[in-house]
This record gives sequence, C-alpha cells and structure tokens, in this order.
Amino acid sequence: MIDLTLNNGVTLPPIGLGVFQSPPEETAAAVESALRVGYRHIDTAAAYGNERQVGEGLRSSGVDRDEVFIETKVWVTDYGYDQTLHAFEKSTRKLGVDTLDLLILHQPIPSRFDNTVAAYKALETLLADGKVRAIGVSNFMPHHLERLLAETDVVPAVNQVELHPYFAQPDVQVADAAHGILTQAWSPIGGITFYPGPWGDERRSVMQDDTIADIAKAHGRSPAQIMLRWGIQHGRSVIPKSTNPSRIAENFDVFDFDLAGEEIARIDALDTGVRGGPDPDEPREAFFTRQIPEA
Ligand code: NDP
Repeated sequence: MIDLTLNNGVTLPPIGLGVFQSPPEETAAAVESALRVGYRHIDTAAAYGNERQVGEGLRSSGVDRDEVFIETKVWVTDYGYDQTLHAFEKSTRKLGVDTLDLLILHQPIPSRFDNTVAAYKALETLLADGKVRAIGVSNFMPHHLERLLAETDVVPAVNQVELHPYFAQPDVQVADAAHGILTQAWSPIGGITFYPGPWGDERRSVMQDDTIADIAKAHGRSPAQIMLRWGIQHGRSVIPKSTNPSRIAENFDVFDFDLAGEEIARIDALDTGVRGGPDPDEPREAFFTRQIPEA
C-alpha cells in the first residue's frame, strides 16, 4: 500500500473507513475492527453524530493515535470564522484528540458563500496554529473552487465528492488536479446508488452492474473490491463505509491485484453523469436546521 501525498506534504493511506450512517452504537466496534485489519484513516463528520464513538474505537483498538489519519467535517450551521474555530473544539473534544489530520468544510453554501469563505479562513488559522495538519473541502464543484481560491490563501488539500462508476465527475477531477487538490471519493462503492431514498425501484445500483461483475469474476474478487481498486489505481483516496467486520476486511484487501488499463477504461465508460446525492448548488432545507451539539 503506497500512501497518497497531499499538496502540503502530509501523507495519508489510499483507503479509509467511512462512518456516514454508521449507528453510534456500532461505530466504535467498526472503527476498532478496521484499525485491527490495517486501516489507518477514518473519515467522520460532525453531522454524522458519531465522532465520540470514533474516538472510543480508536482508543479501544490500542493503535497509537499518531498512526491514524483522522478526518472530520465542519457542518454548515457552524460556518463563520468564530463558529468554525469553535466547531474544531467541539469535534476534537468528542473525538478525544488534540489535533486533526484533516478538517474539511462539508458543503459549500452557494447562497451565502461569504459564510463559506469565513469558515475556510478559520481552517487556515487552525492550520497555521498547528491544530490541523491539512484542510480541505467537500462537495465543491469547479465554480465553487474558483471562488474559494480567489478569496483565500491556502489551496485545499482535499475535495471529497460523490464518486463511483456511475458518477465520476470528470470535470471536478480535472479542476482538483489542476490545483493539486486530492480528489477523495465518497460512496466509492456506490452506496448512494443503493441506499433507500426517494428514487423508487427505477434506480440501478452500481453494485449490480454487469461490467463490474464481469471484471470481478475475472479477478476472483467482489464488485466492491473492483470499485475500490479502480479508485486507487486512478490515484484517488477512497473511504468505503461498513459496520460489518467481514466487509470492512474485504474492502481493505485490495492491494494484491491490478486492474488492466482496458478494465479501468470499461469502468470509466460506465459514468452516467447523473448524481445520486444532493446537488451542491441546491442544498436541502434540512441542512440549515441541523445543529451540532456541544461536546
Ligand atoms: P459506500 O459506497 O461506502 O457504501 C456503503 C454501503 O455499502 C453500506 O450500505 C455498506 O453496508 C455497504 N457495503 C460496504 N462494503 C460492502 C461490500 N464489500 N459489499 C457489499 N456491500 C458493502 O457509501 P457511503 O455513502 O457510506 O460513502 C462512504 C463514506 O463517504 C461515508 O461513510 C462518509 O464517510 C463519506 N460520505 C461523505 C459525504 C459528503 O457529503 N462529504 C456524503 C456521503 C458519504 P454495511 O455497513 O452493512 O457493510
């Protein structure tokens, strides 16, 4: 496993454990189980309501805190310079750590971009003060990035976006690469394509895709392993979520095979251009009513 290097020289493993929708009561065990099989990166968020349990899992694993890359996100209701500095305090207290490896803004707020910029400036202060080792953004489209870059000093290290074979966002990947920003894939095994939601039965899950199944069969691997390997060979950071110990282990077991260029091209060709998750330019009303509790 070769680490990825961020634009400020900080390194992180290519696979991390995601914990979105991991119930708090299952999160500590999932984190502990991941750290025991070799994961050294956990991706959480203030809005997931399980930072405390991520910290518990970290401590019960016995793995040294300094060996684990801890990433969390500031929720939109905590945007603003002072509020975001305080959001750092809330998250680190819940996690039980003094510093974070990566702190990112969870979403742009297009209608109040000044507030997004103020939040990012707080991240810059936290970085300068040595409280976080890297800073970044999530769900930023190229036009959000351009605006942020024009109004701030530190180029984000990471942009975490929806990215799986059915929605690969080539335009975002190109914009990220042009600025030296690492693209980090959320729903890297297509979780968003099979989570229950308002889509009904019409929606196709990438987990059931015939091309992925063919390639999986050829390698004697699972569809999830093929999608993760695809992301890694493209040089992305991937953060699959599972609370199931055997799937947690399966998702990490992707470092002893290679996809051929032709197989990667077949997966690239599956992109539909249709996102599964929310459009960053049309944030849901509910986003602005969710408050992040104090630690
Ligand atoms: P994923 O693509 O990681 O898929 C997760 C789903 O796949 C779960 O239902 C999980 O169930 C199942 N699963 C996991 N491993 C396997 C496997 N090997 N075979 C079959 N099924 C499997 O989707 P997520 O949406 O969770 O995205 C990953 C992470 O990205 C999140 O947890 C979060 O950290 C981050 N994220 C960030 C967002 C943002 O706005 N910045 C938005 C969404 C996600 P089970 O647990 O039962 O194994």
